[in-house]
Amino acid sequence: MDELNQLTIHEAHELLKRRAISSVELTRSVLERIGQVEGSVGACITVAEDLALKEAEKVDHFIRTNGEVAPLAGIPALIKDVVCTEGIRTTCGSRMLENFVPPYDATVIERLKAQKAIIVGKTNMDEFAMGSSNEHSAFFPARNPWDLSRVPGGSSGGSAVAVSAGEAIYALGSDTGGSIRQPAGFCSVVGLKPTYGRVSRYGLIAFASSLDQIGPMTRDVTDCALVMNAIAGHDPRDSTSAPQPVPDYTRELIPDIKGLKLGVPGEYLVEGTESEVRKALEAAVDSLRELGADVDWEASLPHTKYALAAFYVIAPSEASANLARYDGVKYGYCEPDAGNVIEAILRTRQHGFGPEVKRRIMLGTYALSAGYHDAYYVKAQQVRTLIKREFDRAFERYDALITPTSPTVPFKFGDRLEDPVQMYLSDVCTLPINIAGVPAISVPGGFAGNLPIGIQVIGRPFDEATVLRVAYAYEQATDWHKRRPQI
Ligand code: GLN
Repeated sequence: MDELNQLTIHEAHELLKRRAISSVELTRSVLERIGQVEGSVGACITVAEDLALKEAEKVDHFIRTNGEVAPLAGIPALIKDVVCTEGIRTTCGSRMLENFVPPYDATVIERLKAQKAIIVGKTNMDEFAMGSSNEHSAFFPARNPWDLSRVPGGSSGGSAVAVSAGEAIYALGSDTGGSIRQPAGFCSVVGLKPTYGRVSRYGLIAFASSLDQIGPMTRDVTDCALVMNAIAGHDPRDSTSAPQPVPDYTRELIPDIKGLKLGVPGEYLVEGTESEVRKALEAAVDSLRELGADVDWEASLPHTKYALAAFYVIAPSEASANLARYDGVKYGYCEPDAGNVIEAILRTRQHGFGPEVKRRIMLGTYALSAGYHDAYYVKAQQVRTLIKREFDRAFERYDALITPTSPTVPFKFGDRLEDPVQMYLSDVCTLPINIAGVPAISVPGGFAGNLPIGIQVIGRPFDEATVLRVAYAYEQATDWHKRRPQI
């Protein structure tokens, strides 16, 4: 058999249930893989080896004495370092939280633990989830396992790399404007951003609270559905989490999309879309048609062109408010030897935050300031409403929309670092979805040479089931998801 660390969740679950393997063996395999590749890929900020093995032993004992095995039981996961884990350092990719050990678990972690999942550690990310390349990690950049000279995407780059390279069976990421889907596309894994409100944000370190969502990053669509089953659902501790019931997402995984109406919005083939990406989209549309879907190339979402501008007002505005809490007083980095409290706060923020985070705080503070609030923030919120309504209208005609996840394949380190607007353009296809609050998945959709291309499926609010069904049917008709990087 292949290395255990290359299994999917559902494959590992079958083997664990039959006791053909143990959780300790599986966890060891993942830890060994981390030992082999971490020096090249830099996907992890913290590895909780002893804790993981201890938990794995407990699960093995439980499996031996108890028939019932939950789908995620005994299976090792890595968690983006923006999600609080009790007793495991949670840095958010920032010096500001370099030594922060949360005294509590995020709701998603509680839910994984309720299934006896094994938390192996925390993954690398752009500082405070601001970025598209992992180059804004305060510690070191994660590298793309398909080509180490290229970025893995961001901000959940470490999670995408880990799943792709075999350092975990699955991972959690967070997505404010594309941070799950864009790195998933860049590393050829599956990544889902659920509907806003579908998954609790309790214990997720806030970037832009009206846009942030936690979601799964996995090796196939079935695994994605299994993780969603565990983490989705109402949480009284997150007032924005929705009370809607959660279906069993695995029940929707039927390779049949006959009669589904799918739209391809031309606006998502933005200027600068690489020809290989366009070809991959065309091939995906052909596959979907062969599977019986009715695909319309004429779908149109004309306000898409304002989404990026609106996002870069709304997200920094919310970030500037959320990040005001890092003053060195209650927790996090605190500048030593400051003369007085003002100086202490100023220097804490000067040295605790990196350049991109400071840029966002300045943008947001400016957009919210008294004289400009109406011109920028209020205007951006109005644009947001237009975009949302446009999606609502599109979903009267289509069951789902199909786009590239990103206009380009993974780019080289340094290519976009000096030009923030170029970096922001990495997310043109993904951030309108956060603005509208709807769900979307990125699935492996081919390669340009050795470089992965992602295909995005966007669905109606709370209709992750259809998104997963389309993604699953497409996945069954292709074998892109079976390829693994040679590293
Ligand atoms: N790349 C976008 C940004 O830098 C989105 C990041 C995210 O989704 N967290 O803001």
